[in-house]
Amino acid sequence: MLVKELINPASIAVVGGSNNTHKPGGKVIENLLSGNFEGPIYPVNPKEAEIQGLKAYSSSADLPNVDLAILAIPASLCTATVKTLTEQKGTKAFIILSAGFSEESEDGAKIEREVVDIIKAHGGSLIGPNCIGVLTPSYNGVFTTPIPKLDPRGCDFISGSGATAVFIMEAGMPKGLTFSQVFSVGNSAQIGVEEVLEYLDETFDPEHSSKVKLLYIESINKPQKLLKHAKSLIRKGCRIAAVKAGSSSAGSRAASSHTGALASSDGAVDALFRKAGIVRCYGRDELTTVASVFMHPPLPGRRIAVITHAGGPAVMLTDALSNGGLEVPPIEGPAAEELKEHLFPGSSTANPIDFLATGTAEQLGRIIDFCDTRFDMIDAMVVIFGSPGLFEVYDVYQVLHEKMRSCKKPIYPVLPSIINVKNEITDFLAKGNINFPDEVEFGRALSRVNATPPVSPTEPEPPEIDRQAIREVIAVADSGYLPPEAVQQLLDAAGIPRAGEQVAGTVEEAASAAAALGYPVVMKVVGPVHKSDVGGVVVNVKTEEKVRSEFNRLMQIKETTGVLLQPMLNGQELFAGVSSEPGFGHVVLCGLGGIFVEVLKDVQSGLTPLGQQEALSMIRSLKGYRMIEGTRGQEGTDEYLFADILTRLGALVETAPEIAELDLNPLLGSPNYVCAVDARIKVDKESYHG
Ligand code: ADP
Ligand code: MG
Repeated sequence: MLVKELINPASIAVVGGSNNTHKPGGKVIENLLSGNFEGPIYPVNPKEAEIQGLKAYSSSADLPNVDLAILAIPASLCTATVKTLTEQKGTKAFIILSAGFSEESEDGAKIEREVVDIIKAHGGSLIGPNCIGVLTPSYNGVFTTPIPKLDPRGCDFISGSGATAVFIMEAGMPKGLTFSQVFSVGNSAQIGVEEVLEYLDETFDPEHSSKVKLLYIESINKPQKLLKHAKSLIRKGCRIAAVKAGSSSAGSRAASSHTGALASSDGAVDALFRKAGIVRCYGRDELTTVASVFMHPPLPGRRIAVITHAGGPAVMLTDALSNGGLEVPPIEGPAAEELKEHLFPGSSTANPIDFLATGTAEQLGRIIDFCDTRFDMIDAMVVIFGSPGLFEVYDVYQVLHEKMRSCKKPIYPVLPSIINVKNEITDFLAKGNINFPDEVEFGRALSRVNATPPVSPTEPEPPEIDRQAIREVIAVADSGYLPPEAVQQLLDAAGIPRAGEQVAGTVEEAASAAAALGYPVVMKVVGPVHKSDVGGVVVNVKTEEKVRSEFNRLMQIKETTGVLLQPMLNGQELFAGVSSEPGFGHVVLCGLGGIFVEVLKDVQSGLTPLGQQEALSMIRSLKGYRMIEGTRGQEGTDEYLFADILTRLGALVETAPEIAELDLNPLLGSPNYVCAVDARIKVDKESYHG
């Protein structure tokens, strides 16, 4: 938990405070002095009497009582200092800027643990070590520049890396992005990204708290905590964007099943973000652009008017918006004709609305008014207006500034001439606006925000499954791949449709099974894990004679213990699976079967428990979704039936968390049914410690 002294201290000591502002201990004092902090600042430095005009103390023991201590001293001195401050000076909040702890050596890790233990024992909070510090509305506790404009409506930003925090602020500031609070958590010895988010959630005040949260995360240590508080904040009206760096698969993984090979810790991150409603970004510019989108009113619909005085950027923006699932609909009719009369000859109102290089502020105002009140086919506007450098554009940006406040529909400004009309843009930003300097970055960010599914207001209703039957199967199962009978029982108990099937041990049993199932049948070996690879699957067997000959051939295949017969079904090949991700829980995956999964890796992930809406959103996010909808005369699949199977898989593994991997590959899908024809379930009782 973060103590209040960390956010709003009455007094601050800087241990290792210095007159040299090129050192962290000097810079942090300079920043504190230039910021809002109104209480006393106590530098501690044995070699100086005065530091930057402040009385210096020669040791921590000489200090008066102090709320917050910022330490910029070698790691080896930290334990003693923290002891003195907690025991004698009532200090509750600590920020350790210094490096040389767990990130460096085992000795450093030991000091880090000692320091945390002392602070915890006194009910205090530690940010760091190895961080740039903290910015809150009450003080500038960082040793870096630039210090962004602090604004209660700005972003709350939590970063797992200090240097990256600086670069992200540097990426945001020229756009006009402001910050409310910044936390650089460094080694996260006591307080990590998850704990800060928890604090922001628990102290959220709808009137005064910032509604935009940005995260830069290098490792998600407590996925469930992150999920809980992100979801809760979003339900309270916040919007969250995050970069999770490092998307390669973690750890070694038994990849004998398809799901094992396809699942990755990155897929789990995707699943977590989807469930939490976090907009996932992959770089600093994207993160700060998405944050800038968040600073505007939410899109009420997907139809955008592109208003421009230059053709090129409008076309590039239109492409970016259309590719991202937004629309730039044609604008026509009497109102469009009427607008045209107010513009110079040669202007176009078709959308993009191009009012030419000679377009004026007055014309812009009129275009915006038409879009706001007369064009019903428009939900929001983007205004692109730069300058070739021949004249000033203060009047244009003033109109934009006013209309952004008076119009019902959101207006996004794209002001590309950051050199030619630098002063005008500075003036525009100083009035509290944000600029999107690049139209394509903006178009992508807006699309990404729009495509992030909303968090469901309540937790999903679990599907009806036979939990007792599932537990009975698991109780007697051995670790490893389950035999066909156990797989059948689990699917039936979970209500997942499967092809009728029978296992035959003799040629006579095979013949009578085929007759009972009805021709044509499919015959498969029981035993080998990848049946087709060993020639162990025969489809479309139409006669008893063929059943007999194939039975005899299949039984010769290595490791084969029997032959499974199924009716031959038609349908679109689909894939569903589950894998268990350490820390995250179970991840349900879905995709189209065959090359879509194996070659194109077109797979979506969701964390359990999975609701119908979330399952549908996974299916709809597949690149091959149009195949499921049905395309070019080909029948698709009932997506609701497919989604139902995904929610049932989620419920199955929640009931049987010992299931480490599960593949339904393929399911055969049609407008009338979705049915599993091949299922593999691997149980791991050893590493599951429920
Ligand atoms: P494996 O994945 O072990 O190779 P499968 O049981 O998935 O074995 O069978 C291989 C392929 O045979 C499937 O991907 C599917 O195309 C086809 N197939 C399997 N069972 C049926 C069935 N009952 N009806 C129609 N096609 C099937
Ligand atoms: Mg298969």
